[in-house]
Amino acid sequence: MEIIKNDNPKFYKVDFENLSFGETFTDHMFICDFLDGNWVDPKIIPYQNISIDPSTSALHYGQAIFEGMKAYKDHNDKVWLFRPEDNFERLNKSCKRMKIPEIPKDIFMNGLKKLVSIDSDWVKSGNGNSLYIRPFVFASQATVQASPSSEYKFIIICSPAKSYYKESKFSVLISEKYSRASSGGVGFAKAAGNYGSSFYPTSIAQNKGYHQIIWTDSNEHKFIEEAGTMNIFFRIENKLITAPTNDRILDGITRKSVIQIAKDIGLDVEVRPFTVDELVAAVKNKSLKEIFGAGTAVVILSISGFGYKNIDYDIKPIKESYAEKIKKIITDIQYNRSDDKFGWRSEV
Ligand SMILES: *Cc1c(COP(=O)(O)O)cnc(C)c1O
Repeated sequence: MEIIKNDNPKFYKVDFENLSFGETFTDHMFICDFLDGNWVDPKIIPYQNISIDPSTSALHYGQAIFEGMKAYKDHNDKVWLFRPEDNFERLNKSCKRMKIPEIPKDIFMNGLKKLVSIDSDWVKSGNGNSLYIRPFVFASQATVQASPSSEYKFIIICSPAKSYYKESKFSVLISEKYSRASSGGVGFAKAAGNYGSSFYPTSIAQNKGYHQIIWTDSNEHKFIEEAGTMNIFFRIENKLITAPTNDRILDGITRKSVIQIAKDIGLDVEVRPFTVDELVAAVKNKSLKEIFGAGTAVVILSISGFGYKNIDYDIKPIKESYAEKIKKIITDIQYNRSDDKFGWRSEV
């Protein structure tokens, strides 16, 4: 793999204390092209603009997918990835559904690890600090033909991150009208358009004073599916409940880690469809103890209340919260503060 170092790094000019999420990028990027039926010419180059033709297919038809993952630095300045093989596999699931040629594993893994090691100074140690990594693939052929592109670009960029949502209150609005995905569609893929189409419904919820929207199923708006771009868990008395994955729900790596840890520490976990009616009944009879979202950006985020049919329901903060407990176990693994009993860490 060719590596061209950045001889004008901006690293020294970055104010790491005042980063806003996803706006500052490291000094290098990985880039690889799909041309004539093959992924070719993987390389690491200085972070820079790319030049594209106005007819570039992805801009017109949204044939584009991405991943989201993080690198963490431990107390000895070693850098770790969390379950990167799962991101690789999901990237290719997304590619397949969007008729994008799949990425060979060595290209993904070598590019990822080399890039993170070259920019490893950008990964700050300390709880909550990490390097957010964004691999993405888009159709780069210059054409407005509505058909799969013959050319693609696979790029990885990285952005230093501190802990994401800062407010202690996080309230959500349960969607009665909009949905993010439908059966037979692309909800399970990290397809770019899933996110573009979520911004409008999310902004309606935010204009009403909520932080996020809770997606319900597209048929009846009866089943709870996800919280914004996080998977969602409910604690009813001492039981954790989360929806099974299907073609409308993103198979989150944090979600499956939460399930595995919860079972490992002896919690009762039910993976089953969960309805809005059950949630409202549980809050009324006080059996609802916690709701939390799970995803790479936040790891676990406690939800403090929800709105549904013009009524707001509060969830009282709880001592010995499962969210806190599981978050600590996951982050201890991520930052190499505990044994890696599940084999999830991967050294860069
Ligand atoms: C990425 C994503 C998640 C979380 O997946 P992780 O692998 O845990 O980061 C959940 N829901 C949606 C819609 C997502 O895009």
